[in-house]
Amino acid sequence: MITTSLPDLPENIFKLVFEKSPGSLLVRADLPHFTIVAVSDSYLKITSSSREDILGKGFFEAFPDDEKFDESTNARNVFTRVVNNGQSIEIPTYRFDVYDETKKRSEIKYWSCCNIPILDADNKVAYILNTVIDITEEVKAKEAAIESEGRLRLAAEAAEFATWDLNLADQTFIYSPRLSEIFGHSADKVVTLDDIRRQVDDDDMRNIVVKAYEQAMKSGNYLYEVRIKWPDGSLHWIKTQGLVIRDENNQPVRMLGTILDTTETKRDEIRKNDFIAMASHELKTPLTSLKAYIQLLAKKLASSDDSFVTGTLSKAGIQINKMTDLIYGFLDLSKLEPGTLHLDKKDFEINSLINDCLAEINLSHPGHKIDFEPHGNMPVYADREKIGQVITNFLSNAIKYSDKGSGITVSCDQTADDLTVSVTDNGIGIKPKDQEKLFQRFYRVESERMKNISGFGIGLYLANEIIQLHKGKIGVKSDESKGSTFYFSLPLQNEIHKAIK
Ligand code: ADP
Repeated sequence: MITTSLPDLPENIFKLVFEKSPGSLLVRADLPHFTIVAVSDSYLKITSSSREDILGKGFFEAFPDDEKFDESTNARNVFTRVVNNGQSIEIPTYRFDVYDETKKRSEIKYWSCCNIPILDADNKVAYILNTVIDITEEVKAKEAAIESEGRLRLAAEAAEFATWDLNLADQTFIYSPRLSEIFGHSADKVVTLDDIRRQVDDDDMRNIVVKAYEQAMKSGNYLYEVRIKWPDGSLHWIKTQGLVIRDENNQPVRMLGTILDTTETKRDEIRKNDFIAMASHELKTPLTSLKAYIQLLAKKLASSDDSFVTGTLSKAGIQINKMTDLIYGFLDLSKLEPGTLHLDKKDFEINSLINDCLAEINLSHPGHKIDFEPHGNMPVYADREKIGQVITNFLSNAIKYSDKGSGITVSCDQTADDLTVSVTDNGIGIKPKDQEKLFQRFYRVESERMKNISGFGIGLYLANEIIQLHKGKIGVKSDESKGSTFYFSLPLQNEIHKAIK
C-alpha cells in the first residue's frame, strides 16, 4: 500500500513546494465534495483554470466535465475508491482534449494520472493527492511508430520479403516468419542464424557472404546475393540487404534488413547469360574466317593501284576488329555472375605470358607501338588464362583509349613478396573522380571522346574480380592530360604455401 503522511513542514513552505510541483492537486477526502485545498501552477495551466476560481470548491464543481469520462477514469469513481480502499490508483493513459485559446480549437491531449491517499493519525484517508502529467508527445510518437511498423509489415508482405534484426553482441536473431519460408521451411519453423548460414550452398557463396559482411562493417551497407540449398536439396537464390547500426562510440551493435527470394529472376538471368554465351561463341567462328579472308585479300591486293579497293578492305578489317571486341565483350558479359569465377592455378613464367598477349594483340590491332623489356625469369603460381585476360584487357584499353602511334609500355617487376605488371599509355587519361569507379560493373567514363569508342564497361570489373581471387592488388594512376598506368600485383607464394594448397 503506497501511502503518504502530510509532511511536518511550516505551512508557507509546504504551500510553496506544492504550488511549484508538476501537475498536482490536493483534495480533502470529504466525500462526496472532495474540496480542493491546494493546487500547483502547472495543474492550473493544464486545466486552463485559476487558483481563485477553484481553491475551496468541491472538485466536481470546479471541473464539471468530469462526468464526461468513463467509469474507470472519472474522478468521482476513482477518488471514492481511493478513500474506500486506502490504495493508490494509477491511470497510465487517458485522453482529455483541451481547448487552445490561441488556436481557437480543441487539441488532442493524452494524460497520465495517479491518485495517492494521504492518511491521518488514525490511518484514515484524509486527503488525495491527484498528479497529472501530459504524455501527448509520447503517445503520438508511439502511435506513429506502430503505424510505420504496420506499413512496413504490409509492404514486406506485399513484396514477399522477410525482415530480420541481428544483435551483434549476443547474436540474437529476430526475423519475420517469411524468412523460414525463403529458406525452404514452414513459416512457423524456428531457424537459427547458424542453420541458415549452413544452407549457403558452397565455399564461393560463403565467401560472398563473408566479403559482404566485411564491407558492411566499413560502409554500413550490407548487400549480397547467393545460392542456398533447401532441406529438400533444391537450389534457390536469395538477396539480402541491410544496414549496420552503431552505438555512441561508433561500434557496430545491430544489423537489420530484408531477404528476398530472387530464384526466378536469377534463373531468367542465367538463361539470358547462357544464350548470350552460346550466341557469341557461335559468332566467333565465322567471324574469324571472315577476318582471315579479308587479310588474305588485303595481302593479295597490297600492290594494287586501286586505292578504293585497298582502302575499303582496310576499313572492313577495322570493322571486323570492332565486332570481334564486341563479341569477346559479350562472352565476358555472360561470365559476369559473381562467385562463378573459378581459378585453375598452375606454375608458369609471367614474361612469356605477357609476350603471348602482346603477339595476339599485335595481330588484331596492328599499328600501335608497344614496348616491353622482360627482366629475367619470373615464375608465378596463378591461373594463366585469367591473368592473360587481365593483361589483354589492359592492353586493348590502352590501344582503345589512345591515338594510334602514341607509345604504350608494358613492364613487369618483382620484389621478394610480389610481382607487378603494368601497362602505361599516353592516351586520353582519366579524371580522379572516375578513377575510383572504373572497376565497378558497367562503369564507363562519360565524355565526348568516349561516345565514339564502343565497350560494355565490364573488362576492368572482371579484371578486378580475377585479381581479388588471387588475393592480389589492382589499380590505376592517371593524369587526365598525359595518359594512364593500369597495374596489378600478385603475391608470390613460396614452396611451403604451395605445399599447403
Ligand atoms: P570498356 O572499355 O569496355 O568500356 P572497361 O571495364 O575495360 O570497359 O573500362 C571501363 C572504363 O574505364 C572505360 O569505359 C574507360 O572509360 C575507362 N578506361 C579504361 N582503360 C582506360 C585507359 N587506358 N585510358 C582511359 N580510360 C580508360
